[in-house]
Amino acid sequence: MRLPVSTWPDIDAWLKQSTTIVIPIGSMEQHGPNGFLGTDALCPEIIANHAESLAPDELLIGPTFSVGCAQHHLDFPGTITLRPSTMIAAMVDWTDSLLRHGFDRIYWFNGHGGNIATIEAAFSEIHARRSFDPRGADTRPDLWLQRRDWWDFAEVMSLCKQIYPQGHGSHATASEVAVTYWAHPERERQHTAMSPKIAPNGSISDAVRYRRDFPDGRIGSDPTQANAADGGRIVAASAQCLIDDVARFGRR
Ligand SMILES: [Zn+2]
Repeated sequence: MRLPVSTWPDIDAWLKQSTTIVIPIGSMEQHGPNGFLGTDALCPEIIANHAESLAPDELLIGPTFSVGCAQHHLDFPGTITLRPSTMIAAMVDWTDSLLRHGFDRIYWFNGHGGNIATIEAAFSEIHARRSFDPRGADTRPDLWLQRRDWWDFAEVMSLCKQIYPQGHGSHATASEVAVTYWAHPERERQHTAMSPKIAPNGSISDAVRYRRDFPDGRIGSDPTQANAADGGRIVAASAQCLIDDVARFGRR
């Protein structure tokens, strides 16, 4: 089931059988010359929706939290970011809204490495607020929060290594671009030559330094390797891992 295309009676019925929800969470930031700005929000959303199509009775997919922490990409047109403090505040409000309905297992399915520290900080903020609340366990449900990065399943990592032995990279990766091409084949870009073929590696800090060190936006990657067919293999692998992982999470 998908929350944005469900009714409130649908969600009411869901809550009688499960208190788990999956929230795709990403970012709106440049992804090199041939990757979409929405890549990091699209990838977890595409995989989660595919998983839901395979197991509609087992998964409830929430709306995508599509803007995250991307300040370092702001020198590239189209990037939109939240400050970490804003993102934490928004995640607290999303969680409190869901808790009010009875969801006590919230699984954040992440598509952006730059979100990880802030998602974990948001979890700490949410748990701290509950710790300061003097009410006992008899008056409120437990709350379980989980972050999982879509590429971080062992099966998905080994598949990506097999498809892209060279130039997979760490930003604007071949795999993430392929996943978006699978879902939007009409928007697949012709493979323009990129120079250098494999982008440099390095550390990041602010937006100006990022553009200076990584002028076309890529880090360590050759996303000209991306195609829709390989994207479909990656989506299938990650979707099955997601179904299994959420089932384990729901039983905790
Ligand atoms: Zn990305």
